[in-house]
Amino acid sequence: MTPKVSIVGAGIAGAGAAHALDEAADVTVFEAGTVGGRMVSGHRDGCVYDYGANYVDPPNDRVEERFRSIVGKQLAVTTGDVWIFDESGEIEEGRPNQGVKLTGRDGIDEIVRAFLDASGATVQEHTTVDRLARTADGWTVVADGERLASDAIVVTPPTGDLLASADWEADFRETLVAARQRQSYRTIDSVALHYPFEIDVPYYALVNTDKEHAVGWLSRESCKPGHVPDGEEILIVQLSPAWAAGRPDATPTEAADAASTHAATLLGDDRLAEPDWWDHERFTHALPGDRVNPALFEQALAHDLGLAGDWLAGTGRTHAALETGLDAGRRLAGNR
Ligand SMILES: Cc1cc2nc3c(=O)[nH]c(=O)nc-3n(C[C@H](O)[C@H](O)[C@H](O)COP(=O)(O)OP(=O)(O)OC[C@H]3O[C@@H](n4cnc5c(N)ncnc54)[C@H](O)[C@@H]3O)c2cc1C
Repeated sequence: MTPKVSIVGAGIAGAGAAHALDEAADVTVFEAGTVGGRMVSGHRDGCVYDYGANYVDPPNDRVEERFRSIVGKQLAVTTGDVWIFDESGEIEEGRPNQGVKLTGRDGIDEIVRAFLDASGATVQEHTTVDRLARTADGWTVVADGERLASDAIVVTPPTGDLLASADWEADFRETLVAARQRQSYRTIDSVALHYPFEIDVPYYALVNTDKEHAVGWLSRESCKPGHVPDGEEILIVQLSPAWAAGRPDATPTEAADAASTHAATLLGDDRLAEPDWWDHERFTHALPGDRVNPALFEQALAHDLGLAGDWLAGTGRTHAALETGLDAGRRLAGNR
């Protein structure tokens, strides 16, 4: 009989696990929000903007080819380079020969959706997994009051809450929960600022290299094919983790004001202080600060448990999160 596998989270890690399991299992993916997770895009007035992950930067040709073959013609290549700036706001050219930066023409979440579509998995969006329980021959997943028996599960969220509350007696569970509680994540306020005019600068994005500026990252969505109509611009401004740390109760308006004021100063253009609309999201689990012991991955498999996500990779990169999902899926498929 085809084994049943439940995956918690339809970010790129969950999509990778579903993709690797493909025909080896009957896969259900539970997603509390919408497909993409932190690879999230907004849509407004004919514009598309990636306000979580900005792009996928494949580390080599093999990984790039994987994205190209799965996503196909909807894949969009960002034009322009990333330049750098320091605490004083001085801007300089970045390093030469920067790699390819991929997104979707209709938003970066299209990439995640493409992996899920190719996997044939059943995806339940807006369905929160409330509880996990270990059974004699697998797991029970409780999602929005419904119970689903599964031979194995893959757990991807950046918080360890589900495993901490799982109905599961095992020394390994304590080890895993403790490891996740020790792990740190950085908080980032991400603001999208829309302008009814173009911004004429020679770069795609600016990154703060000394980590002393209130802005960590600023980029132009017009450099992504299909994202912004001619004659307009959307700036993505990510305030630094230090900005968020000093303002735990900052409102979206305060974040948008800070982002637009800093953008105007950094780019030397007063018009940027007054966007005609904006959007904001605070990511409390934006980027992992460290990694857990990779041996946990192997140990979890003995409990019919796949671990995946950037928390396991120990780096906030989409391609690394995808690899953890592919690994978990392949290993669970191999175990069956
Ligand atoms: C502002 C920002 C900028 C970034 N920039 C880049 C970049 O330019 N390039 C890059 O490569 N990476 C970037 N990253 C990092 C990248 O987004 C992540 O590393 C990657 O998307 C993590 O994928 P994941 O699948 O591990 O986790 P997630 O995308 O967080 O997916 C986990 C999913 O689990 C779901 N979930 C959680 N709990 C439950 C539950 N109980 N039941 C059901 N579902 C649940 C969540 O809703 C979420 O969709 C950025 C991140 C942020 C926040």
